Amino acid sequence: MQRQDTYDHAAIESKWQERWADADVYRTSDDATDPSYVLAMFPYPSGDLHMGHVRNYTITDAYARYQRLQGEDVLHPMGWDSFGLPAENAAIEREINPREWTMDCIDTMKTQMQSMGFGYDWNREITTCEPDYYRWNQWLFKRFYEEGLAERKGGEVNWCPSCETVLADEQVEGEAELCWRCGTPVESRTLDQWFLTITDYADELLDGIDELDEWPDSVRGMQRNWIGRQEGATVEFEVPEFGGIEVFTTRLDTIYGATFFALAPGHELTQELIADDPELATQVETLDPDADGDEKRGVFTGEYAINPATGEEIPVYVADFVLSDVGTGALMGVPGHDQRDHEFATEYDIEIEQVVAPEDGEVDIDEAAYTGDGVLVDSGEYDSMESATARDRLVDDLDTAANHTQYRLRDWLISRQRYWGTPIPVVHCDECGPVMVPDDELPVELPEFVPTPTGNPLEEVESFVETECPECGGPAERETDTMDTFMDSSWYFLRFTSPDGEAVPFDTERANDWMPVDEYVGGIEHAIMHLLYSRFVTRAIGDMGLLDVREPFEHYLPQGMVQLDGTAMSSSKGNVVSPVEIMDEYGADTARLFMMGAARPSKDFDWTERGVRSSNEFIERLLGMVEAFAADETATADAGERPIDEYVAREIDATIDEASAGYENFRFNDALREARGLVSLLRRYREQATPDEHTFERGLHTAVRLFAPVTPHVTEECWTALGEDDFVAEADWPEAAHDADHEAERQLVANTREDVRHILDVANIEEPAAIEVVVAPEWKHRALAIAIASDEDVVGSVMADEELRERGEAAADYAKDLAERHQSLTEALAPAAEFAALERAAWLFEREFDAEIRLERASDAPDDVARGATPGRPAIEIHEG
Ligand SMILES: [Zn+2]
Ligand SMILES: [Zn+2]
Repeated sequence: MQRQDTYDHAAIESKWQERWADADVYRTSDDATDPSYVLAMFPYPSGDLHMGHVRNYTITDAYARYQRLQGEDVLHPMGWDSFGLPAENAAIEREINPREWTMDCIDTMKTQMQSMGFGYDWNREITTCEPDYYRWNQWLFKRFYEEGLAERKGGEVNWCPSCETVLADEQVEGEAELCWRCGTPVESRTLDQWFLTITDYADELLDGIDELDEWPDSVRGMQRNWIGRQEGATVEFEVPEFGGIEVFTTRLDTIYGATFFALAPGHELTQELIADDPELATQVETLDPDADGDEKRGVFTGEYAINPATGEEIPVYVADFVLSDVGTGALMGVPGHDQRDHEFATEYDIEIEQVVAPEDGEVDIDEAAYTGDGVLVDSGEYDSMESATARDRLVDDLDTAANHTQYRLRDWLISRQRYWGTPIPVVHCDECGPVMVPDDELPVELPEFVPTPTGNPLEEVESFVETECPECGGPAERETDTMDTFMDSSWYFLRFTSPDGEAVPFDTERANDWMPVDEYVGGIEHAIMHLLYSRFVTRAIGDMGLLDVREPFEHYLPQGMVQLDGTAMSSSKGNVVSPVEIMDEYGADTARLFMMGAARPSKDFDWTERGVRSSNEFIERLLGMVEAFAADETATADAGERPIDEYVAREIDATIDEASAGYENFRFNDALREARGLVSLLRRYREQATPDEHTFERGLHTAVRLFAPVTPHVTEECWTALGEDDFVAEADWPEAAHDADHEAERQLVANTREDVRHILDVANIEEPAAIEVVVAPEWKHRALAIAIASDEDVVGSVMADEELRERGEAAADYAKDLAERHQSLTEALAPAAEFAALERAAWLFEREFDAEIRLERASDAPDDVARGATPGRPAIEIHEG
């Protein structure tokens, strides 16, 4: 669609993209010293950029550009998280191979990123499905193994009995858990698989969260919950003929209230019991393990456990809310003091006993569990002991009890029974067991893709599977599992520091200098796994002596969503705006300006056509204004000393201060509002007077640079028009010329204008002839300063001043007024500064109210008018014609 009267964004944008590329503007030199490392989570190449990508990458790009203008070296790389199941599925659907499909997607997305004007150092591009990257996954896996951080053990997988294959969680569909391919109900199977023992780092990862003070609290909370450290105790309950069964509890003080015992369906004892009891086996089969399910279901086993504290027998259930991999897979049920146990007991008519009472007040234990600490009751010798003391004593007193810390965090299962991933560098030998492939034989490369109807295609490739044992030289089989793609993304940020390294995954010295990532931006859906795995791998690599940095990401910002009519854009909802179409119609700068101006990066916002158009029109106006000035169409003078020139000069400074703070703190919308305000001020300046050439030019130079991080193409065009030879992308950030309290000056002018509006409105004056503005006398400023400094007796302090006391009643009245507002008093500009600020802004009053402005000091004004003037709040008198 061709629209009229708009600038030629397509020509401008492609021109500058080419020039940047030719001049290598975004390249980070290897000898840069600790560059500002700005990183967006690298994408999964899926086809086209969507709006979420565009927002994510515009945020980092704007920040990276801002840093570069600040004179910083900047590292702003991009790459592709290009292994994974979706590519494998897409390839099967399209009857091509995953590699081809992935590379096509990368081509498309890279072209689109370049059209958006993202300033990446493409020399550092990383593609995880390339052998020169994934060989280092294999190399690191071996180092993990050597450090005892990689283990082979049984792990549960989803198994389709009809396809005879392992399924990823994403391939199990719906609540009924059916195979995505054939619809057969999925079963669980135990297979030997590789785990990275992240649990060895549980405490360190948890404690490290305290130091991440530039992460959102919500994300820190999510990480803490995921690790889930609980301090408690283990204790055994004897089940006659079967022996002691261990449970973990954080509330050993409630053991006298244990009225039932529960096992996970997968617990060893459960398995033993059902082996001899087909009826029980059938009943257990109907249980669906689900800790969060509303309904708690269980099966009585016919067995009883002996409570080690009371010696009483309590019934043993198999219950669906007990998970095999949480705690010991068995628990003591204390319905009086645990809400989940309470629900279960109510359902199965099990006794509910109170053994802890709150310190004060009553609780009805039949209604709901009392879960707080308190004082023990009905607990034998522990009665009237406090909960915490009782816990310690019981650990000492019960034979099988011991203090124990438990975590929710599990070891990281990295084996995937899929083709499109990093081959795990292991060979299985009948004689030697699993043997690591020697370093000099890495990478173990993926063979050509052979589509298979079921299972893991790698198993079908004989030339891949059949090999020699590196240890004994006998025949052996290669491991056909590939690595979880989270492995690829858990250290890629290190590889960006030295992407071409052929002898090491990354250069230690450079990584030590360049890491951590200073600003990391990406979706909240990665706030747990990806960030936790990255933190773990970084620490583990550090402990191998390869890195000094412990935490990979200093500041993490999850960007908000782009919505349409209040709901997140998603292709399944069909409410998607295509970034490519927006780029074609309006250009990248418009899309970027609209997105960054609409909301803070962390907030959700609504995509609106109106907002896009208004951004486009603004860019056009800015360019028009610069071009008119450059073509000498804007009449200018060599004035410079008039109040209006002074006003504009100081507003330029104020805008620089505010916009810089906005960029610095990821409040780009505030920065852009300031920058737009400056452009609007320059327009009014030009309309009101023949602008001073130097001031006007400085204003334009400033505005262009303030927009440069967000609208990089059109600002290059402007910069050239202003006679600059270099790229604005490499210019210096503007600096304020005056050091002044801009905020107070702006507030004074805004308040005074507001007061004038109010009076005109109340007095119903439509055409004022003159507006008299009277600033407060010096003595009121002094009284204010004394009042602010005084602790309590404001009137006394003010009147203790001899000169003020001489002013008599006027001073006393003002002192009383100050005393009333004591808590909210704020410092005002000095009297001369106040007068000067209003004098510079007089033209704005004249422009708005179309009246003469008479600015006066209190001593020059009539008493009845001057009386009302206070610091920061001049008196106003309107004269009608
Ligand atoms: Zn199936
Ligand atoms: Zn061998």
